This record gives sequence, C-alpha cells and structure tokens, in this order.
Amino acid sequence: MTPDDGTPPPFEPYRAKVIERIPNPGPAEREAALVRAHFNLFQLRSDEIRVDLLTDSGTGAMSDRQWAALMVGDESYAGSRNFAHFEAVVKDLTGFPYILPAHQGRAAENLLFSTLCRPGSVIPNNMHFDTTQAHVLHNGGRPVNLAIAEAYDPESDMPFKGNVDVGALETLLNMEGPERVPLVMVTITNNTGGGQPVSLANFREVARIVRAHQIPLYLDMCRWAENAYFVREREPGMRAHSIPEIGRAFFSLADGATMSAKKDGLVNIGGFVATRDPSVAERLNEAQILFEGFTTYGGLARRDLEAMAVGLQEATDLEYLQHRIAQVRYLAELLTKRGVPLFKPIGGHAVYLDVRRFLSHLSLEELPGQALVVEIYREGAIRSVEVGSLMFGNQEGTGRSLELVRLAIPRRVYSAAQLAYVADCVGRVYARRREIQGMQYTHRPERLPHFTARFAPAMAPATAPPVRSS
Ligand SMILES: *Cc1c(COP(=O)(O)O)cnc(C)c1O
Repeated sequence: MTPDDGTPPPFEPYRAKVIERIPNPGPAEREAALVRAHFNLFQLRSDEIRVDLLTDSGTGAMSDRQWAALMVGDESYAGSRNFAHFEAVVKDLTGFPYILPAHQGRAAENLLFSTLCRPGSVIPNNMHFDTTQAHVLHNGGRPVNLAIAEAYDPESDMPFKGNVDVGALETLLNMEGPERVPLVMVTITNNTGGGQPVSLANFREVARIVRAHQIPLYLDMCRWAENAYFVREREPGMRAHSIPEIGRAFFSLADGATMSAKKDGLVNIGGFVATRDPSVAERLNEAQILFEGFTTYGGLARRDLEAMAVGLQEATDLEYLQHRIAQVRYLAELLTKRGVPLFKPIGGHAVYLDVRRFLSHLSLEELPGQALVVEIYREGAIRSVEVGSLMFGNQEGTGRSLELVRLAIPRRVYSAAQLAYVADCVGRVYARRREIQGMQYTHRPERLPHFTARFAPAMAPATAPPVRSS
C-alpha cells in the first residue's frame, strides 16, 4: 500500500477460512502469455493472472453457510426439497409466483426470448447486456437501447444514470405497439453503462407507460441488491427501507425477471427466470425442459439450488453491501489520485476506465480498449475487460457508444491491499500512456466476438518507442 493515500481501506466484514495461493508471473511469462492468447485476455490461463478483474460473474467466494448448504443437497430428479427452499426464497424476495431455475443468466434469457421474441420483434431496454442483445438477435428481434442521454456521458455525475429515457420509450411504444413489442426490459444495475442504478421513481414511470400499452415489463435483475443499495442511499425517503423492501417495490411493478445468480446470488453458477403470467410460465417450462432440464432443477445440481437460496439472502445484508460498494469506491479513489480518468459516478460492481480520455491519441480503429486491457495485464498480470465497440459492435442507429475498460470486483474475494496493487499498476500504465500503441484484429468472429477474437499489435510507426514490459 502506498503511504500517500489517506483513504482508510474499507473493513472487510468477513475473514479467511480457506485460502488460495495467487500466481505471480514475471514480465517474460506475461509477454509469452499475451502472444499465446493472441492478445485476447479471455484466452489466458488463470495461473497467468495475479489479480483477476475480468468479471464479477460467478467469481465470488461462497460463505461457510453456503458451503454447508451444499452438503444438504437432495439430488432427486424431481421434487427435490432444495428446489422447494430455493423457490420459497425467490418468491419471498420477488413476489413472482412462477420461478424456473436455469444454469445461468443467459440460459434464463434463452428461455424468455425463445418464448416471447419473434422475428421482427422490437425489444426496448435501458441498455442490453451483451448476452441479452445476442439472445434478442438470435430470435430475430431488434434490441433498442433507451437509456437517458447522460448514460453516454462518462463525466456526468448524475445519481441514476441507468434510468430509462421515458419520452423515447413512449414514442417507441406508440410507434410499434404491443404487436411488435412482446416485452420491455430494464436492467438493474446497468452493467453495460458503467454499473449505474435505476431509480424507483424512473421505474414507476416506465411501468406506468408500459402498462398503458398492455405490454409485459421484465427486469434483468442480476444486480438488483446493489441497485437497491443505491436507491436507499440516493433516492429521497428511501433510507428507512431495507434492501428486500426496496427490491419488492421494484418487483411489484414488473411482470417477471431474468437473473444470473452469479452476481447478486453469490454463487459460482445458477440463475432463474420468473414470471407472474401462468400461460407464459407454462411455455417457459416447456423451453426449460427442452434446454435446461426438469422444472425442479433447471440445469443445476440440487445442492447448487440450496447454495443459491442462501446466497440470494446473504446478498441483501446491508453490511455486506456497504463493504462491497465501499471497496469499489476505494479502488476508484486510489485511481483518481493517480489522475486516471474514470466513468462517473462509480457504479456498484466495477470501476470503469474512460478509454477515450485515457488513450486520447488512439483512434477507435486502433482498438484502444483492447490496447489498454493488454497493457494493464503487461504491467501487473491484472486481467480486465473491454466494454465498448469491440464487445458490442458499433451501436447502429444510436450514433452513441461508450468506450470503457471494466475492472470488475469479484464478491468477497480481494483485500484492500490487493486493490491498492491494482491502482498502482494502472497508475503506472497511465503515466506512460503516450507510448501505448493500438491493436488490430487478426480474427474477428461474428457473434459475441470479444470472447474468441484474435489480435496483434497495430503496425508501429518507425519513430514510436518500443513498448516496455514493466
Ligand atoms: C451477467 C449478466 C447476464 C448474463 O448472465 P450469465 O450468468 O453470465 O449468463 C445478463 N445480464 C446482465 C446485466 C449481466 O450482468
């Protein structure tokens, strides 16, 4: 830890019971790993990484209570008591009557969109996550992002930048009508747009408009507890309410939801889709049996359902959430002290670097986000991810795109000292940013390209200095 940082590190409300040794590859190993991975960090091996901030999805640490829950797994094919417990917990948290487990969030999306989305359908969302967008497209639909304008301004400090542009939503629904719009979705928090929350007031407005058009409203509820934490902190009059109460205020306005429990479910695998509509539930169940497995396990071991039931409740614990958000802010503060330009305000699960300002000398064709994730790995064996035009393609029609690099914080995994190491490394990369050169594609797949694309350093101009390795 650097002594000049006055910020007291946030106190971790847990202690280690089992530990895992962290690899520490040297500069030559890192360089070799980059070449082997074709400069795509998804292709790295975990033993080539010191701090892994690729994603907060399924990378959290389970609690002792969750590990204990695994031991009471009832592996009956049908009617497992773990399903009954899981179902009761989700019904209690959300109020939705039909709960269908799935092996992860995109599996829940597959069930929902293969059931409701048709060729020619239009699906509005504040901002589609990459897999959500891919499932809409896969079913012939057109994803439309309707976040407020501030969502695209990295420097706007607005408290609810995840909000939906209700005027644009109303215009779209008037134009397309319920025949073309099978559902409206709202993502809490908005992962693609910097992990920003949606206010309850905004969601009420959305629900009013969507209801008036008699269209079902679904939540992408992956980070609903983090969203509720921000609502409690920032929305007038919400302080007195608990996280589950705020959650229920959202869910009571919706017709259903998809969930990746790898986020605010605190498990390594799991998810579900929920609905109020019995006829939709019946069709979802048919798709579930086809794609995931029987109703009472949905692609998971029954012990996983038990761990998920415990994790979903732990994610609503205020002390846990306080620390989680404080940890993300701590990293952001250390980076800000080093001058690193960040997407503002700081969201719930990650710090997002503002690539346009970080690497202002590179054009978008030089893939600056990818150049930056490569350079951060090169500096300190830290893995981050590009969230921008590479992950999402150029958002046609909207004329707007965010160019971000995400440092996602896994839940209950890294200490303040480890985050201070990250801040030091990224600070050093920032100090030598002018030397950083662009990247180019050597292989560019059509769907979800960021997972499997290959890259190479862009042709260096003769005068450019060589890239240093540490
Ligand atoms: C992670 C995520 C998903 C997909 O969930 P997986 O479990 O990774 O399949 C969907 N929406 C959002 C907002 C997410 O963050």
